[in-house]
Amino acid sequence: MAKYKHIVVPKEGKQITIKNKKLSIPDNPIIPVIEGDGIGRDIMKATRRVVDAAVEKAYKGKKKIAWMDIYAGERANELYKEWLPKETIDAISKYVVALKGPLTTPIGGGFRSLNVSLRQILNLYACVRPVRYFKGVGSPVVHPERMNIIIFRENTEDVYAGIEWKKGSKEVKKVIDWLNKNMKLNIRSDSGVGIKPISVTGTKRLVRKAINYAIDKKLPSVTLVHKGNIMKYTEGAFRDWGYQVATTEFRSKVVTEDELWSKYNGKMPKGTILIKDRIADSMFQQVLTRSDEYSVVATPNLNGDYLSDACAAQVGGLGMAPGANIGDFIGLFEATHGTAPKYADKDVINPGSLILSAVMMLDYLGWGQAGQLIEKALEKTINKKTVTYDLHRQMKGAKKVGTSEFATQIIKNM
Ligand code: NAP
Repeated sequence: MAKYKHIVVPKEGKQITIKNKKLSIPDNPIIPVIEGDGIGRDIMKATRRVVDAAVEKAYKGKKKIAWMDIYAGERANELYKEWLPKETIDAISKYVVALKGPLTTPIGGGFRSLNVSLRQILNLYACVRPVRYFKGVGSPVVHPERMNIIIFRENTEDVYAGIEWKKGSKEVKKVIDWLNKNMKLNIRSDSGVGIKPISVTGTKRLVRKAINYAIDKKLPSVTLVHKGNIMKYTEGAFRDWGYQVATTEFRSKVVTEDELWSKYNGKMPKGTILIKDRIADSMFQQVLTRSDEYSVVATPNLNGDYLSDACAAQVGGLGMAPGANIGDFIGLFEATHGTAPKYADKDVINPGSLILSAVMMLDYLGWGQAGQLIEKALEKTINKKTVTYDLHRQMKGAKKVGTSEFATQIIKNM
């Protein structure tokens, strides 16, 4: 067993392994957990209690998670004098499935976001963000219940790859001079420059994951969201390569929107998934006006970041927005929001997003029964109008409770 400096491996747990390209999950899997900074401390405690209660209730003691604390962010800096210690990365790689609270991005000194670093080092190329409505939550739209979308956002490329040069730097001058001379361009010398790489590899593995998810969950469609009318060789290529994956690797299981009309007279053949594409700006309208026409969405990094927050705003906001970063096997489950420092240690913040991220994690482990218990109990708690401050300000006649009490109510309502 690997020797760690500060991580204590729980004796009662077993490691998740990969056998024949599939996860092999013991009844007592060791799950590494990064508590997170700021409100991470409030929401992780609440989440672990809710998950343990649901697993106990669903499997009557036959299954149990062996949580294993690992460290990143402020806590890691205290313990190791490092923000992202190597043994944290090693533990996630080894134990395959992990839960994470939000992390502060250290300010100054050329630090990259710890979250972006984790995704890139572990090659967690798909950021998966489901957005669904829980009955009773206040919403700025008339029909929030029509929203049930799962966004697969590419996590490693695009303008988020971190390839950019500051205005006035030696490097940017070199890049601009080279482009102006060799590509006959006319870029202003007082520009900053960023690069937007989008590859066949990055696109195909993401779209493949999105289609496989739609097949597994028997969902009706996968929509490729891009800005290919303007950025032809990056976003337009994303669309073309996406259709290629669909029509070569999944031929018998998919119908494209063109084929739907040219071959099938507008009627989907039974058991097939519709593959369509939308231009990003139009998609922002569509999710407001016709959200029920969309199910799984696959999109490059920047579009996905904007789109997932815009969708979350319709169903209760960041307190209800779960997510996961998934690679070929490793899954790092985390809320979409950050550390909200002004609410840290006050026991007021909504733990819903991390709890729902843990529901995704349970589903990933094949423990969907426990996940469903949590989702139903959360819905029941909201229906009974017992909610945290963020939902309270959007609901009439609700009772405001703190983080820990909200978790207690969810457990009671299981
Ligand atoms: P933030 O932490 O997401 O908080 C922004 C606002 O969103 C909060 O003030 C609050 O709004 C609302 N909010 C966030 N979480 C909520 C929850 N659980 N329940 C209810 N409302 C919630 O964004 P930020 O203040 O811009 O970022 C703070 C730090 O977090 C930064 O260091 C940033 O780098 C980091 N960050 C980390 C991650 C990550 O770990 N994945 C993601 C994003 C940001 P109201 O005040 O209106 O109630």
